[in-house]
Amino acid sequence: MKKCELLVIIQQTQVKPVLRFIDKIEYMMINYPLKEGKIIQPFGRDASDDPIYKEFYKIFDYKHCGIDFDTEIGTNVYAAFSGIVVRAENHEGMGNVIGIRNGNLVGLYAHLSEIGVILGQLVSTGDLIGKSGATGKACPKPHLHFELRDLTKSSLKEMVFEPIFEKEIDRYKDTFTYTVNNKNTQKTLRSLSKLYFGTQNYWELIKIANGFDFDESIVLEEASEIIIPNYN
Ligand SMILES: [Zn+2]
Repeated sequence: MKKCELLVIIQQTQVKPVLRFIDKIEYMMINYPLKEGKIIQPFGRDASDDPIYKEFYKIFDYKHCGIDFDTEIGTNVYAAFSGIVVRAENHEGMGNVIGIRNGNLVGLYAHLSEIGVILGQLVSTGDLIGKSGATGKACPKPHLHFELRDLTKSSLKEMVFEPIFEKEIDRYKDTFTYTVNNKNTQKTLRSLSKLYFGTQNYWELIKIANGFDFDESIVLEEASEIIIPNYN
């Protein structure tokens, strides 16, 4: 009897990584991150003559890289789509910012007064993740800046794109390929886990997805292509 139970446990452990790849979402839809809130700055607005935004939008050719919603400080902010928390930090321009990844897409929620999630946390669409605010230098008055990034692109300028709410996002991919760039920091399975899953704990998932047999701390070969699986 005891032997039998042990066998079952071993089998479950062995199939676990395989099961993780079966339940893929093939489409993505994004909700509004607020219950209500007027759009005060659309995506792509020219900010070249704005004294505050100019500095921060330079890398985006001075175009607004997200959508701004008018909010009062302390307004509930909800996850526009499900995912894993990959950023929960204070950034010079964006202030308190949360980043949530699903496949190749990252949603950023900026200038928050409160961050209600932690790195590596799994969130569902509509979960309360924080409170809006006016933190960060690129924030002349309280608002929520919501930004979408496509991680299949190589530069920040190409990554940002206009969020269209409550419609299918056709550029969504459940998995994508990262091309190793060791210029600024040396990339390992651990560091890629931190980058795309918020913590270092997911390195084995990347290792399995790529069929690697080396250690999580080995520096990855420059320009090699790494499959980044989704968190589920
Ligand atoms: Zn903005």
